[in-house]
Parts: sequence; structure tokens; C-alpha cells
Amino acid sequence: MMKLILGMMAMLTSLSAWAGSPGAISALDIMTFADEFQCQDKFPHHSFCESVQFKPWTSGEKAIVGGYLARINDPRLQGILKAIKENGITKIHRVSHAARWYNNPQMRRVEFVRSAEKAFLWVNPVTNVIGVTDSFFTGTPFMDPYAKVDRKQINILHELMHDFDIATNHAFSMEEFEQAAGLANLDLAKSQREFQQVMALMKEKRTAEAYALDRELGIKYGFPTLYSMSNQFEGFAEVVAYGIFDPHADEYYSPELKAYLGKLFDVTEK
Ligand SMILES: [Zn+2]
Repeated sequence: MMKLILGMMAMLTSLSAWAGSPGAISALDIMTFADEFQCQDKFPHHSFCESVQFKPWTSGEKAIVGGYLARINDPRLQGILKAIKENGITKIHRVSHAARWYNNPQMRRVEFVRSAEKAFLWVNPVTNVIGVTDSFFTGTPFMDPYAKVDRKQINILHELMHDFDIATNHAFSMEEFEQAAGLANLDLAKSQREFQQVMALMKEKRTAEAYALDRELGIKYGFPTLYSMSNQFEGFAEVVAYGIFDPHADEYYSPELKAYLGKLFDVTEK
């Protein structure tokens, strides 16, 4: 019975995607759910598997994540999705945790250690793994106050933009993006001080308030979040993700940034 219901849900999802934009592909069309991952003595070292703890997907989890992926079907993203399909990471793994990595020069290998960070999902550019963590399913659900979209929806597109960025060897997140975003002219010391307020709320587990403040303060600078200003790669992922899902992004993005996005969607489409 469960299988039948899930099958029908999948059918409805693909029908609605089709109804929205005829012929458009969604992230669900290019990504696959993977249940296993092998670690090695050399690379990826066993400490990676020990840190993140891979586990098989349940059908319920696949239905939830599949729903978010199916809604990433905007016509502007078609070229980006195709680039991920051709050159990017297309497997999504289910993991318990996030991990950090470091060089162990004595052992001449990269090793991993579990991170306390409660990321919903992560893209690891060292191992080429995308992991959806327990937090994705246990984290407080809430709407983005501006976009009126589930923040997990925006978060998944953010991570897929890292996937795209790696697949294109940072071709779209370097000088041209930095210029369009005006990164060189920002008062980073000031925005980093402000970001401490966001972090303080996070520490108190006032997650929705932290998120809203991150958004509010970032928008003052013409960015979707203060977090966008932490580096060009995070900025790139944030600017595209909110550019797609926040209908108000047009009101706070600079003309240069909007022109850059237009060009990105155009170039990748070809
Ligand atoms: Zn990121």
C-alpha cells in the first residue's frame, strides 16, 4: 500500500512539474538516491565514513527530499541542471552528520572528523559526496519570511549551486561574480560584527529568529543574507538560490547583480 501511495505521489509530482513548464527538467530528474558508500585505507579514508555515518534511505525520506528536488524546475535553471547532470555530483547520500577534513602529513592522506554543525545537507568537494543529514528531517520547519518558501527548499538549491560551481570549476563564481556583487567594496569587518548577532541567536537555539535577522541584515547590503558575504562561493550559491525562490530578490539585488544572473542563466542554457 505504502509503495502504491508513493508511486502515485511521484506521478503527481512529475505531472505538476510538467504542467508548470512544459519540457522542463527538475533536479529530481538528474539526481539519484544512493544507499551505500565505500571508504578506503587511502581515499576517501575510513575516517570519512566513521564521521558522517552513511545509511540507507527510507522510502518516506526519499519522498520528502524528492518533493523538494521536483520543485527545483524553474526554466531559468535548465542549463545549470544539465551541467550538473553532465559534469557534477548526481548521487545524494543519506548520512547522520557533517564532517570537516584536514591534511595528515605523517600519514600522507586527508582525514576527516565529525563536525558539530547542524547543516541540513552538505556538498563535500574533497570526496564529491552530497549528504542529507538527520537535521534535515528533525530541524524546525519554517517559511522564509520574505520568499514565503520553506527554507529547506532554498537550502537544497543552495547546495546544488555548490555542486554546479564545482562541476564548472568555479567558472561563474570568480572575478566576474565578485565584480557584479561588488564584493571588493564591502565593509566586511562591519558585516562580520553583525553576523555575531545571528550566531548568538543560533547558540540560543532561536533558529527562526537567527534566520530572519540574517535575511534582514543581508538585504540592507543588497544580498539575500549576511552569510552570503562570508566568501564568493557562499555568495554565489546564496545569490542564485534566492534569485530563484525569492520573488522580492529583484527589489534588493543591484542592477549589476541582476545582469550577472541573467547572463549566467543565458550562458549555461546554451
Ligand atoms: Zn554553502
